[in-house]
Amino acid sequence: MEFKTEVQQLLDLMIHSLYSHKEIFLRELISNASDAIDKVRYMALTDSSLLEGDDDGKIKLIVDKDAGTVTVRDNGIGMNQEDAISALGTIAHSGTKEFLQALKSEEVKENPELIGQFGVGFYASFMVASKVTVRTRKAGEPAENGIVWESAADGSYTIDQCHKESRGTEVILTLKEDEKEFLDQWQLRNIVRRYSDYIEYPIVMDTEKTEGEGDDATTIIEEETLNSRKALWLKDKAEISEEEYHEFYKHVAHDFTDPAQVIHYHAEGTTEFSTLLYVPSRAPYDLFYKDFKIGPTLYVRRVQIMEHCEDLVPLYLRFVKGVVESADLPLNVSREILQKNRQVEQIRKTITKKVLDTLGDMKRDEYDKYVDFYKEFGKVLKEGVHYDPKRKDTIADLLLFESTQTEAGTYTDLQSYINRMPAEQEHIYYITGESRREVEGSPYLEAFREKGYEVLFMLDEIDDFIASSLAECREKSFQSAVKGDITLGKEDEEKKKEAQEKHKDLLELIKNELGDSVQEVRLSGRLKDSPCCLVTGASDMDPQMEKILKSMGQ
Ligand code: ADP
Ligand code: MG
Repeated sequence: MEFKTEVQQLLDLMIHSLYSHKEIFLRELISNASDAIDKVRYMALTDSSLLEGDDDGKIKLIVDKDAGTVTVRDNGIGMNQEDAISALGTIAHSGTKEFLQALKSEEVKENPELIGQFGVGFYASFMVASKVTVRTRKAGEPAENGIVWESAADGSYTIDQCHKESRGTEVILTLKEDEKEFLDQWQLRNIVRRYSDYIEYPIVMDTEKTEGEGDDATTIIEEETLNSRKALWLKDKAEISEEEYHEFYKHVAHDFTDPAQVIHYHAEGTTEFSTLLYVPSRAPYDLFYKDFKIGPTLYVRRVQIMEHCEDLVPLYLRFVKGVVESADLPLNVSREILQKNRQVEQIRKTITKKVLDTLGDMKRDEYDKYVDFYKEFGKVLKEGVHYDPKRKDTIADLLLFESTQTEAGTYTDLQSYINRMPAEQEHIYYITGESRREVEGSPYLEAFREKGYEVLFMLDEIDDFIASSLAECREKSFQSAVKGDITLGKEDEEKKKEAQEKHKDLLELIKNELGDSVQEVRLSGRLKDSPCCLVTGASDMDPQMEKILKSMGQ
């Protein structure tokens, strides 16, 4: 069968552009093996026959020096033909278009590791292998329903039936001539310790051991466990290195880049749980898609129950990844039960607070890093102002805006805005628009500039909702610089009244000329250099909002 075009493109990129850290292929294969064991253990909770009497998850590395192959074998869920075709022959996500664009983009060409965010784990094998053979059989199916999948990354793969006694998957890599170093057991052991130590199932390898001395010496073969197997989230913080935290992140989040923040916490008291959460450093391409998978992985007493448990975090923190383990939930919880469960609600509250506190600390102590975070996830975080009224103020403190007083690409927060307000300024002013350039040139801002009043630039689509949900901050109300009749101070008000009287005829003439196109023509307090501008009434919709609704077909 032919690979989908994008797969072949990806393979070419893997083979020809990715030269560093080739050893991560092993991490990817082990991570898949571990995922597959998680799955079969979970399904066995309702159908124990799937385990076929073999219920200890295990991942085995097999080196064959003569054949030049390394094999990663697991007793996980396995694949049938359909699974193999969709999992190994396509790129199974909805963002194929974005993915293709990314493949062509300069950014990815210069930093090929960025491709990792698209979840291309298995294909990493082709960085070191000239041929990859997958022998697999799905749990619960008869031995003759095994599948052999094979490819040399030359545009196509073959798929055939085979007999396979044991359930699960074997990925056999025939190493390229110049990648034979991966046949070295010492090397493999180091790679496992470095990247996969936290995997909870034993990763084993047959090693030779010499017993006795001199003439009595005999060589025996022993199965050695290479990883320490301790669930990272249950360990003590002091025992964990930054690298271990980061490697585990890559495993749970299916990301290749280090996270921006690690939140590791054991809650005690009425609701006991352990959690290891991460704030990623880069937004995944599908963050705003409808089918974006939300929530940390849920474990109950060491069994993985659900990969994305959306009840554990509010939507506006959907970028958070990681693991939550509870001992108090039943093993057979369903999504429906979770939704109503009080423990789950308590966990969600604690997590929400922890994450917001962490972001607050980050903003205070590591501002530059926070700005990077904000550029990636600020749009999502902001939704909280609207959807989580109880924490509105906490979230408002985390918001950043460009303004008439910041340089392009730099920000102010609301507190600093308020600190800078001249004594007589009553409101917090903002203007919405699509880009800084668009709003900066707006005639609406002329009077504000002259007065020395700062105006916040609200450039995200959602900002209109945010401004109206915020309503006020530290007793200052938010007011659009674009809406209604704005007077900046009492003095101006008087002058304007006089002028309105004086130029009454002119205003009437213009109104008659324009007819029904406008509601009203009046003198404005906001213009300095431009002769006129169009505004919406104070109770009408903001023009930016109108655009959004129109584009949604309303
Ligand atoms: P990801 O792990 O992010 O889903 P991969 O490219 O690593 O992406 O794997 C693609 C898919 O192939 C997996 O989602 C899974 O369905 C399937 N797969 C890979 N390795 C195994 C395995 N050892 N056992 C069962 N399925 C596997
Ligand atoms: Mg994977």
